[in-house]
Order: sequence, then structure tokens, then C-alpha cells
Amino acid sequence: MRITQISANVWSLSTWLVFPIAVWIVKEEDGATLVDAGMPVMAKGIARALHDLGFGPLKRIVLTHGHSDHVGAVTRLLKAWPGVPVYVHRLEIPHMTGEAPYPGRRKAVPYLPRGLAQPLPEGADGRLEPIGGLKPYWTPGHAPGHVVYHHERDDVLLAGDLFNAKKGRLRFPLFTFDKAQALESSRIVRELQPARMEVCHGGPVRRPADQLDDYLRAHARFAGAGQQA
Ligand SMILES: [Zn+2]
Ligand SMILES: [Zn+2]
Repeated sequence: MRITQISANVWSLSTWLVFPIAVWIVKEEDGATLVDAGMPVMAKGIARALHDLGFGPLKRIVLTHGHSDHVGAVTRLLKAWPGVPVYVHRLEIPHMTGEAPYPGRRKAVPYLPRGLAQPLPEGADGRLEPIGGLKPYWTPGHAPGHVVYHHERDDVLLAGDLFNAKKGRLRFPLFTFDKAQALESSRIVRELQPARMEVCHGGPVRRPADQLDDYLRAHARFAGAGQQA
């Protein structure tokens, strides 16, 4: 697993398992936050990185969404750090625990046991509240409760599967059910204007807002297309 410091407080841990896959460790004042948990085989590497970076206790695991390639190491990590809270958008919980299939899929598959993940805290207006040094934003489409995490102080956006990327260029995320909604959600990069964005599959993208018009144009066929498998 490759460990890369991407800003003052954010590190990426990446590997290649058929496709590139990354998770992130955020240095907090009182420990560390893990963003996403990759595949099960990454558990050892993530645990070692958490120890080696030495930021103190693992305070929480926050998930961009509940797909299997983002929650894989959670159960094993919780054996090493029992009681650490795991957060995800409330709309993901029934799908990731196998109570209901993900939209567009026929079977409900449990990726995590029920009761293990809790909903990200929401304010009275329904907005997601900051968690550690991160500000979550609901960006549905790829998954119903997909969330991106903005590290405001470092101006880094941890974008999960809002996009895929290749050589710094935005790509449409694979296995996206509601393509029109995902396209709409991609506009968050214009709102936040991060200097650097990291996606789970495909590495860093500098100034993603600069590519947004091209991206929207290239995928305009998805706009208004609604839900499709
Ligand atoms: Zn996904
Ligand atoms: Zn993914």
C-alpha cells in the first residue's frame, strides 16, 4: 500500500486491486479519522499506517457510501479498535446492511452487520454537520446516500465515487445507478472550489472545478436520463 501525504493534515493510502483504490487518514487534534475502508485485504495496511503515522487514537471511521469496495476493512479494523464509531449517510444504511437492495440491483447484500454504522449527524435543516476536521456534503447518484468530505483548512475534497479519475482528468464513476443525479451532484466542486480533490478510484485531480464544464458537456446525455442500471 502506498502512503502519500497530500496536504498538511491528509494522507492517502492507495493500492491496486484490479482497479486503483484509495482510503484517507485525516490528522485531527485528538487522533485520526479514517475516510472509507477499501477492501478487506487492505485492513492490515490501514492498521499499520494508522500506527506508523502516530496521530494517536483512531477516533472515527467515516464512509463516503456503503459499496463493498469502501467498507471492506471496517469489521477487521474494529477488532483492533473496538468501539470506534462508524458513520455513513442514513440513506446508505438499509442498502449496506442488506435490508434492501441498492437501487438497480436485484439482490440485497449485507456488506456490514446491522447496527454497526450510525447515521452522520444532521442539523435541523437536514444539512450534515461537520465531523472531526471534515465537512460532509450529500452528493447522491452513484449511491443514494453518497457523501463527499471537504477538509476546509487544507482545501482538499475527499470525493469517494462522485467521480473516477485518470491522470488528473475527471471520469464518470462506474457502477452509477442514477446517472442524472450523479451529474447534478458533480456541481459541488464548483460550489466548494477545492484546490485538490481525491477520488477512490483514480487518484488526485487538481482544481476539479476547472474541468467541470467539459465534464458536464461530455456526459450531457445522462442529464435528465433518470435512473438506469
Ligand atoms: Zn461505489
Ligand atoms: Zn468504489
